[in-house]
Amino acid sequence: MMRRLFLLLIALLAVACSPSPPDAGQRYDAWRQHADAGELADYERLLAQAGVREVVPMSALLRSSRRWRTCDAPEFLLPPREKAAAIVPVLRVIAQLERLGIVEGGNARSGYRSVELNHCSGGSSRSRHLLNNALDFDLVDDTRVQALCDFWRTQGSSLGMGLGFYTPTMIHIDTAGHRTWGTDHHRGTSLCVSPVGRSSDAAPNRRTP
Ligand SMILES: [Zn+2]
Repeated sequence: MMRRLFLLLIALLAVACSPSPPDAGQRYDAWRQHADAGELADYERLLAQAGVREVVPMSALLRSSRRWRTCDAPEFLLPPREKAAAIVPVLRVIAQLERLGIVEGGNARSGYRSVELNHCSGGSSRSRHLLNNALDFDLVDDTRVQALCDFWRTQGSSLGMGLGFYTPTMIHIDTAGHRTWGTDHHRGTSLCVSPVGRSSDAAPNRRTP
């Protein structure tokens, strides 16, 4: 009996002491060791000059796709130089959403994608991710949807803001024009058009049948 307990203790200690897998920050640091330092510095400089360097941490901005593992793709991707500036207007939108507490920069999940990765990720052939003009985010919870839709309605036209919903907490933002869509890529399934995101239907204490 004592021997079994002893062996169990050893096994538990072994599990507790084994190194945990690297988190996203550690994986980014490892990726950066082998990235093109000049290109990365140029991208950071471009963002700084546009005043958007601090909006989304580089370790989140460069995330390639939610499906990078299954697509056997790198987790982080630098956009080609000619596409670098296209992210600036998107980051200006994100900066406003951050100030309103709707989006958190560190929760960016997908930015620039190569053609192959975009295809594997289920993106459309005209996806703005191919142009480095889109970012996907996770929202902390779906209570942000109404505020997000209010922003899209009031500011989206002047910002040229596109807003897509993969789920109520997984969203896409680009600046390719004022439009919105939901899971089937049509306007009718957007949470800003269907009742959950419509201000008049989201009054306090209102109950859905
Ligand atoms: Zn997207």
